[in-house]
Amino acid sequence: MTRIAIVGVAGRMGRTLVSAVNQDDGVTLAGGIVEPGSSLAGADIGELAGTGKNGVAAVDSLDAIKDAFDVLIDFTAPKVTLANLAFCAEHGKAIVIGTTGMNDDEIEELDRYRDRVPMVFAPNMSVGVNLTLKLLETAAKALGDEGYDIEVIEAHHRHKVDAPSGTAIKMGEVVADSLNRTLKEHGVFERVGQCGPRTDKEIGFATVRAGDIVGEHTVMFATEGERIEITHKASSRMTFARGAVRAARWVATQQAGRFDMQDVLGLNEA
Ligand code: NAD
Repeated sequence: MTRIAIVGVAGRMGRTLVSAVNQDDGVTLAGGIVEPGSSLAGADIGELAGTGKNGVAAVDSLDAIKDAFDVLIDFTAPKVTLANLAFCAEHGKAIVIGTTGMNDDEIEELDRYRDRVPMVFAPNMSVGVNLTLKLLETAAKALGDEGYDIEVIEAHHRHKVDAPSGTAIKMGEVVADSLNRTLKEHGVFERVGQCGPRTDKEIGFATVRAGDIVGEHTVMFATEGERIEITHKASSRMTFARGAVRAARWVATQQAGRFDMQDVLGLNEA
């Protein structure tokens, strides 16, 4: 039985993760971490999540539960996640990272732990999105260099702090990789004023932030006469939480390395 601790247990994803762990017979909820000094320290994690008392109290430091868990699930913020990764390296723990919005330096720092920590790092843990990435690879290879313009459009709830979403960037990267392009050279993240017509090879991004949208992504391949749209819509955070728990079960059996959801789902072998 894999023992899981959840960082940011009072957050939107943290609370959903508590439900997902409770529903999975292969894992047990060993701890939940709230921000240092938070008044929620000491509260029952199940009650925090609204799933009923489960007898595990939230703590405000990982050190307090370091012998209680095997895998950490972290959906917080880049700096918090990197500090937790250092903790995992020091104490022989595995980690599942859902945090998005890391800049290049932060991703480089994360990558330095790949020889010491078994980690799954994925901007989107949903099984459907990861299958969608495979479909995008196929579509990009067939269409991308044949005069189809490629645009990525995403929509999320009004509280999201990073843009475009980690998933939108990942979708753009998959398309770019399939076409020997890079987002550094071909990604267009802003169009405003007299920006001129689009170029053939650019990959455009557009962002919507509104209300309570859980997460919607469309990649459009458009040419004269037709348009293909590959869309994924998440209607509940449970899809990400279930994927993260599946990743936690999987990574508990792995040696050190940096993995993504394609590895967890076996899609990299397909
Ligand atoms: P949120 O703001 O609701 O939750 C973040 C939580 O982290 C908060 O409760 C905050 O108190 C806590 N936190 C901050 N610093 C902490 C610390 N030092 N120790 C412990 N807890 C700390 O945000 P959210 O909607 O749950 O999203 C969190 C992250 O997960 C974002 O980066 C988001 O983009 C990402 N996300 C990823 C996926 C995925 O599938 N990979 C899905 C949804 C959200």
